[in-house]
Amino acid sequence: MSEKKREEERRRNQEHGKVTELIDRLQERKMLEREEFIYLIDSLDEASASYLYAKARETSKSVFGNEIYTRGLIEITNFCRNDCYYCGIRRSNRNAVRYRLTKEDILLCAGEGYELGFRTFVLQGGEDPYFTDERICDIVSSLRENWPDCAVTLSVGEKERASYEAYFRAGADRYLLRHETADCGHYESLHPSGMSFQRRIQCLYDLKDIGYQVGAGFMVGSPGQTTEYLAEDLFFLHALQPHMVGIGPFLPHHDTPFGGEAAGSTDRTLHLLAILRLMMPELLLPATTALGTASSDGRERGILAGANVVMPNLSPAEVRRKYMLYDGKVSDGAESAQARAELEKRVRAIGYRLSDSRGDSPLWKGRDR
Ligand code: SAH
Repeated sequence: MSEKKREEERRRNQEHGKVTELIDRLQERKMLEREEFIYLIDSLDEASASYLYAKARETSKSVFGNEIYTRGLIEITNFCRNDCYYCGIRRSNRNAVRYRLTKEDILLCAGEGYELGFRTFVLQGGEDPYFTDERICDIVSSLRENWPDCAVTLSVGEKERASYEAYFRAGADRYLLRHETADCGHYESLHPSGMSFQRRIQCLYDLKDIGYQVGAGFMVGSPGQTTEYLAEDLFFLHALQPHMVGIGPFLPHHDTPFGGEAAGSTDRTLHLLAILRLMMPELLLPATTALGTASSDGRERGILAGANVVMPNLSPAEVRRKYMLYDGKVSDGAESAQARAELEKRVRAIGYRLSDSRGDSPLWKGRDR
């Protein structure tokens, strides 16, 4: 071996040593310094990533055993008053074919989901003015009346605190609102000027304060994202302490201003899932649809990197292709709630099983805290 090669190998070993040391420290102290996160994220290679995933799996198993929580996702509307540059259902996308579900449609989906074994319904949608507080409360309370043993999660965007309070009183238990990026300047480069970073963050703190189990999250590889911003996301999440964090790779949609941008990396998404698992062992961490779209075994790889939740699609078949947040979004096969049996087979093949519980956060103290 030449001197140069030996030198290279020494450097690699040293780097590997430093990376595994950081992973050990993260597991032990649940946090790193900003510069350390940046170094870790930028230095992970195949060998150190498998070390990280093994630790993340071990941590996840110590809290959740081999159970994977499931949620039935109902995409209630693709009308949206917002114009996020990355999103296929943004207001300015004239090519999007719009739809909204009626209350009856939603209750039918939930009934079907219940039969399939789902005990959480997630209602997600664009910010559609048709869904007034009154309509949302009515739907939430009907779901709770019909299926009292189920949790209802909302993911319908930014609202006034009073609206969030009303939904909570109507029986909503959880709310998903990704922060998208924790850097204000980066947020402004992903959204038009009418949207405010401060407002979005305020919504998350309001939701937590009201007593919801709260899900935040961000896209990996969104245009302009740097490793510094990812470290900022980790610091923000450490401060917020949400119950859930949804992350997935950014995937371009051809009818948006970011249609020509590169997709986010699956590996980097898996690295961040595993880092989040070590930071917050009790976190609900979904293997998201975007991860399943980016790679056909994305869900499994997510679980093997520490994820513990899957959210198959329960929307009526005829609208599924219309909730197109990004090109190629999958909604059939194991993504579809109807294929719960297939999903079960796939998670069993990697040593897990689907839970038949509501799957509340272990940190949640119940509605009357
Ligand atoms: N209107 C709701 C739901 C938004 S859709 C809200 O504001 O919370 C749910 C998530 O999909 C978004 O928060 C975003 O992180 C993700 N998403 C949207 N467009 C995407 C894209 N092009 N690639 C990957 N994820 C995307």
